Amino acid sequence: MSRITGATAVAGVVGRPVRHSMSPILHNAWLAATGIDGVYVPFSPTAEGFPALVAGLRGASVRGLNVTLPFKEAALAAADRASERALRAGAANVLVFEADGTVRADNTDGEGMIGAFAAQAPGHDLAAAPVVVLGAGGAGRGAVGALLDAGAPEVRLVNRTLAKAEAIKDRLGGPIRVFGWDAVAEATSGAGALVNATALGLEGRDPPLAALEGLPPGAVVMDMVYKPLRTALLAQAAAAGHPTVDGLEMLIRQAVPSFEAFFGQAPPASVDVRALALAALGEAAKETVR
Ligand code: NAP
Repeated sequence: MSRITGATAVAGVVGRPVRHSMSPILHNAWLAATGIDGVYVPFSPTAEGFPALVAGLRGASVRGLNVTLPFKEAALAAADRASERALRAGAANVLVFEADGTVRADNTDGEGMIGAFAAQAPGHDLAAAPVVVLGAGGAGRGAVGALLDAGAPEVRLVNRTLAKAEAIKDRLGGPIRVFGWDAVAEATSGAGALVNATALGLEGRDPPLAALEGLPPGAVVMDMVYKPLRTALLAQAAAAGHPTVDGLEMLIRQAVPSFEAFFGQAPPASVDVRALALAALGEAAKETVR
């Protein structure tokens, strides 16, 4: 960013906490490379302040916001209209502020997850075998819809609270089967991929680690968690010979369509935003172990 002018286009990310968000690093690097007169900044309102922030920014005071925890459901509620995928996910990670004062919601998390598979497990066909999703929170719900859209013949949803997984099955329809953690070996049997959409898998006997035991050789393992980049789940999966996909790649891939929605052009491929994000995470030196 060279300078701020009276014509500078503003976009940002809203979350609480937002301090450690990677999004400003990605978007500002892309802005600098394109030469767009724009800036991308963080917002961290209280829960009560979130709807007031969205209301106050109407009329394109900002081009748009990325939305992270805990505001994704509130973002969908605050919008005037929403994409099909945001409605299916029941949450929005993108708000676009239109010049006519309306707000449009979208959800690019699923696109980010599918893009991460394409980038880091390029030979894998998600439509070839059932996919296991661990976790039925907001991220799990978005993942199930995106995997069905990508042609997964069956999504096996594993969650501690069965009612939450059943609610997703009822809401989305399609070939979804629900399992408790006690039946995780049944869920992983014959699966082609496993996605961790819980914040677990970080320590010794967390349930996601146990899930690896029943997974067929060659099945791809993805973890949405990216702090640390190489979670215990991914380390154990790699040691067992499974191809792995990390959460940072998902984060970068979900940011691409957001940038396009805010600034009207695709981010330049010439910028290595992954290297910038790795440096910010203090993970640059570990990248070579992938
Ligand atoms: P969430 O709505 O709070 O859901 C948390 C999930 O974890 C639920 O399924 C919950 O099960 C499960 N869980 C929590 N503690 C557990 C325990 N002790 N034992 C068993 N299950 C437990 O969170 P979320 O928004 O879905 O996010 C999940 C993770 O994905 C977070 O780490 C987030 O940072 C990450 N994420 C990454 C990206 C990316 O771009 N890389 C994007 C979105 C999210 P119950 O339903 O039983 O409570």
